[in-house]
Amino acid sequence: MTKDRVPELLDRAAEALEREFAGLPEFKTVRESDSNAGALAQVLEEAAGRLGDNYPYFHPLYAGQMLKPPHPVARAAYALAMTINPNNHARDGGRASSEMEIEAVAEIAGMFGWKEYLGHLTSGGTMANLEALWVAGELQRSQGSEIRGQGSGTEGPGTRVQRRIVGSEQAHYTHHRISHVLKLDYGSVAADARGRMRLDALEDELRRGDVGTVVVTLGTTAIGAVDPLPEILELRDKYGFRVHVDSAYGGYFKLIEDRLEEPARRAYQAIGQADSIVIDPHKHGLQPYGCGCVLFRDPGVGRFYKHDSPYTYFTSKELHLGEISLECSRAGAAAVALWATQRLLPLRADGEFAEGLAMGRRAARELDRRLRADGRFEAPAAGGPELDIVVWKVRAETKERSSALAQSIFSACAQRNLHLALVQLPLFWFGSASGSGELVTCLRSVLMKPEHETWLERIWDALCDACSEMENG
Ligand SMILES: *Cc1c(COP(=O)(O)O)cnc(C)c1O
Repeated sequence: MTKDRVPELLDRAAEALEREFAGLPEFKTVRESDSNAGALAQVLEEAAGRLGDNYPYFHPLYAGQMLKPPHPVARAAYALAMTINPNNHARDGGRASSEMEIEAVAEIAGMFGWKEYLGHLTSGGTMANLEALWVAGELQRSQGSEIRGQGSGTEGPGTRVQRRIVGSEQAHYTHHRISHVLKLDYGSVAADARGRMRLDALEDELRRGDVGTVVVTLGTTAIGAVDPLPEILELRDKYGFRVHVDSAYGGYFKLIEDRLEEPARRAYQAIGQADSIVIDPHKHGLQPYGCGCVLFRDPGVGRFYKHDSPYTYFTSKELHLGEISLECSRAGAAAVALWATQRLLPLRADGEFAEGLAMGRRAARELDRRLRADGRFEAPAAGGPELDIVVWKVRAETKERSSALAQSIFSACAQRNLHLALVQLPLFWFGSASGSGELVTCLRSVLMKPEHETWLERIWDALCDACSEMENG
């Protein structure tokens, strides 16, 4: 392991923080007396031992699931904030960290071209999507009652059709569940051979006249596919519905849209026209888990959050983040970590952070190129990775054999410290004339660390090595 810079960074910052509170009288906590320092150290060593039972997510040879190590500045800032342990529910609980959250979120909104908006951090992408779909449902309810109030509709109270939410079959699985929680109907729209929402299938749904919200995924979780947002926005003009962009994983690619290929580039260029956007700083934004973000283009949706908390709003007249959030307590430390990271690595198209995304993407394209040139593998026939996720199938006589081989290669690679992932994909993506329900187990690699670019040769060698061992054995 390369030397961890966090303890040193943290020491210096912790001293600075201590000076901030130097005016307080000395005190000794009951729990942390010096006598049990040895016990603390022992328990922590035991914890380290337990943590060894993990894949090495921080290492470039971990190229499997969507896992990216937090930046040292994020880890140090998070740990520093833990000294105070602020709660960003309300300014009473996290004055400075709420300010930092507002600043950090403004920078993310600015990346999408939004100056006026409503937004905040969440505990993750699922919670952020839940808020976006909840607001979508509340808006429709309130608009529905307006129509009834004016007496312009023929439907009486209670007979109004519930407007549905639809998303592509490659949308994140939680949208279905979230809709269920919100008691909103959810419909799945077929995806094409590159995992993008099919416009003809979407329009079929829209013609039914009951779609209230379309979830558009920019960067699907399985393969990083980018739904055709500009065309969906045209359909919005025609049919009238809300567009929610789920870019929990893919949102930061906005920064390098000029380096993406068509049509992904055009989709990112249009992202600012969405009604709401979700992005996860804990996916591609170098943050520890516990950091999602939801943004609404119309700040007026804040009215739906109105609630009466009897105990949190006494000492400040300003807007609390808790007043525009479904969650109550949230880690202020997550906001401090994000703020610090963006301070060091601003969200700029020509910055180091953007270059880090571009490096992973170059690694993904290079891996895809090698797979296509190699007779042992098959890559999706319609095209290579749109972002930084690569998927491929093992060439074999039958899909059963191909799936079994993928499984064996996955294990043989792991023995060589190369950690890939497995994914079930439609067989027709690989040019076979099969029914759309037929799936084959494929290999998948998320190349989201900048180091993946220089490590690609080693990754490829390990993969080839694992394959030849199987051929010989
Ligand atoms: C990861 C992901 C989610 C879920 O976010 P969590 O932070 O894991 O809750 C939702 N949508 C997409 C597209 C994702 O990639």
